[in-house]
Amino acid sequence: METASGRFCLGLQGKFPEPATLFSNMLPRFACSLACLGRARPWHTRRRQASCVMLTKSLPANPPGVAIIGAGHNGLVCAYYLARAGCQVEVFEGRSVVGGAVLTQEFHPGFRNSVASYTVSLLDESVIAEMGLRAQGLRIVERPLANFLPLEDARALHLGGGLAATQASLARFSQRDAERLPGYYAQLERVGDALARLAREAPPAWEGEQSWLDWSRSGSSLLGRARELAQLNAADRQMLLRLLTDSAEDVLAPWFDSDPVRAAFSFDAVVGHLASPRAPGTAYVLLHHCFGGVNGKRGQWGHAIGGMGAISEAMARACVSLGVRLHCDAPVARVVVERDAVIGIELASGAFRPAQIVACNAHPRILADRLLAGATLPEDFRVAMRHYRSESGTFRMNLALSGLPRFSAAPESGPHLASGIILSPGIQWMEAAYRDAIDHGMSQRPIVEMLIPSTLDDSLAPPGAHVASLFCQHFRRELPNGACWDDAHKNRAIEAILGVVECFAPGFRRLILGMQALSPLDLEQGFGLVGGDIFHGRMSLSQLWAARPALGWGRYRMPLHGLYLCGSGAHPGGGVSGLPGRNAARQILDDQSAARSLLSRALSFRRQP
Ligand SMILES: Cc1cc2nc3c(=O)[nH]c(=O)nc-3n(C[C@H](O)[C@H](O)[C@H](O)COP(=O)(O)OP(=O)(O)OC[C@H]3O[C@@H](n4cnc5c(N)ncnc54)[C@H](O)[C@@H]3O)c2cc1C
Repeated sequence: METASGRFCLGLQGKFPEPATLFSNMLPRFACSLACLGRARPWHTRRRQASCVMLTKSLPANPPGVAIIGAGHNGLVCAYYLARAGCQVEVFEGRSVVGGAVLTQEFHPGFRNSVASYTVSLLDESVIAEMGLRAQGLRIVERPLANFLPLEDARALHLGGGLAATQASLARFSQRDAERLPGYYAQLERVGDALARLAREAPPAWEGEQSWLDWSRSGSSLLGRARELAQLNAADRQMLLRLLTDSAEDVLAPWFDSDPVRAAFSFDAVVGHLASPRAPGTAYVLLHHCFGGVNGKRGQWGHAIGGMGAISEAMARACVSLGVRLHCDAPVARVVVERDAVIGIELASGAFRPAQIVACNAHPRILADRLLAGATLPEDFRVAMRHYRSESGTFRMNLALSGLPRFSAAPESGPHLASGIILSPGIQWMEAAYRDAIDHGMSQRPIVEMLIPSTLDDSLAPPGAHVASLFCQHFRRELPNGACWDDAHKNRAIEAILGVVECFAPGFRRLILGMQALSPLDLEQGFGLVGGDIFHGRMSLSQLWAARPALGWGRYRMPLHGLYLCGSGAHPGGGVSGLPGRNAARQILDDQSAARSLLSRALSFRRQP
C-alpha cells in the first residue's frame, strides 16, 4: 500500500488527459457504442453473442485501466476480481486507511476494537474462498451463543448453543414458542435460501436503457429463480410475501406469543433501520440479517480475530498480490467525463488519473451530488438520487473496560458474555425508542446491543481488561429545532445509553476506562455514510434489488459509459458481505467482454473484401 505521495505521484501526468490517454479511451467507448447498437441486431446473432459473452470471463488482451473510488471492503473486492481478470486497477481512498466501515483501531491507549461494523455473518463464503482470505491470515471464530436478552426482572433469554438449548430457554417463557421454534427456523432457512441466491447476481434489467443482452440474461436468471421459488410450498410462499412487505411483528406474531422472544428476533429488523418493529418493511431487514453464516454454518455469527479490520486488511493483501495499486490519503474530487463517458478521475489535489472504467465504492449520494456535480446526467437519475433515503438512526460506542460486566440476570461469567447482548426486553421498548427519536431526535431508553469481543480475542485489550462495542438505536442525523450533534447532545446520548446498560448490569459505569462515541454526524463525516446510514441507504423495498440505488440503475451501471457503483448502495445492499463489489466486477467484465466481442466482430467485418 502506498500513500498519495511516493509512487502514486510519479505516475500522474498532470491535470488534463494526454493524447495517448484519449486514444486509449476511444476504443472501449467505440465498443460501448457498438454494444448499445447490439440491441437492434437480429435474434439469431443475439444468441451467438450471448453464449460467447458467457464464456469470456477474463480480458487478457489490452486490459482496461480501472479507477476505484474508495477502499471500503466492497471497493477492495471489486478491485480484486477485476485485477484477477487482467485489468489494471488502482484504488483511491480518501482516508489514511483502507476498509471504510470495516476497520480496527486503537481508540484508547492499549485498547483496540472494530470501530464501526463489529460482527461477522454476512461475509459471503465465495468471497472468502475466491479471494483466498484465509490464506491471507483471516480467522473468524464463532460466537458460542448468538444472543442473550436480559429482562428487568432478572430473567433472561438465551438464543444459540444448539436448538435444544434455545428451546429450553424459550420454554421458560412459553412452551408453545419453544415447540414452534424449529418450524420457524426451517421456514426462514428455506425462504432465505431462495432469496440469498438472488443476492449473488445482478438484478434484472428494468427500463428501456438496457441492452438486449441484459434482457436475455435477466430473463434466464429470472426464470431460474422463478423455478426455485415455485418449489417453495404454499406456506413458504406466503411467508416470503410477508417477509418482503410486512412488519417484523406481523411475521413473528403467528409463531411466538412471548414478548421477550419477539423482541429478541425483532432486533435484527430494526438494527441500522430507523423504524419500529411494527412498521411494514422491517421483516425484510430481519431476513437480510439471516442470509449469512460463519465457517459454513448457516445463521451463525462470528468474530474476526484482530477485529473487523482484519477482513479488509486480508482483502487489501489479496489485492496487492495481484498488482492492484492502493492509494490512501487520496480523496477523489470528481469523475472526469467527456461527452457521455468517463475518462478518469480528478483527485482533490487537482491531479488527473486516466481510466476507462471508474467504479465508485462511495455512497451513491456522494457520487451523484459531489463526484458528478458538474456532469450532465439524466434528470430522472438526479431526481431519484435527490429522494434516495439514507438514515439509519444509529449511535456507536467503543468502551475500554477494566473487567467484565455482571448482569443481574446472569451475574457469573459465561458464554452469554461472548454473545450479542440485546438490551431491549420487549416490543414496546423498541416502539418507544423509535417514537422518542421521531419526537425528540433521540431515544431516552435506546435499544442497545453490546458485544465484548475481547472474550474471544485477546489481541484487543491488555490481560484482564476488555473492550465492548455498543450499537445503539434510535438517534436521528438531524436533531429537532436546528440543534446539532455538539458535545452536549453527544453526552445526552451517551448518558441514555449507559443508563440502559446500568439498568441490566449495575456497576457497569465503574468499569469504564475510556470511550469513543460516534454520533450519526460522526459516521457521516468520518466514514462518508450520508445521513449516518450504515447501509449506504435505507434497506426498504423501494430501494432494493433492481431499484438499488434507483430503478433503471440497478445493474451497477451508472448513467455514463464506463461508470459503475460497487458499494453497499448497489444490490444486495449493506453489511459486510462483499457481494456488491463482486457482482459489480462481474457486470463490468461482462460489459467489457460484450463490447470487445462486438468490436472485434465489427473490425473483422471491415476487413472483409
Ligand atoms: C456503526 C456501524 C456498525 C455496523 N455493523 C455491522 C456489522 O456488525 N456487521 C455487518 O455485516 N455490517 C455492519 N455494518 C454495515 C457495514 O459495515 C457496511 O454496510 C459496509 O462496511 C459498507 O461497505 P462498503 O465497502 O460498501 O462502503 P464503505 O465501508 O462505506 O467504504 C466506502 C469507502 O469510500 C471512501 N470514499 C468515500 N468518498 C470518497 C472519495 N471522494 N474519494 C475517495 N474515497 C472515498 C470512504 O472513505 C470509504 O473508505 C455497520 C456499519 C456501521 C457504520
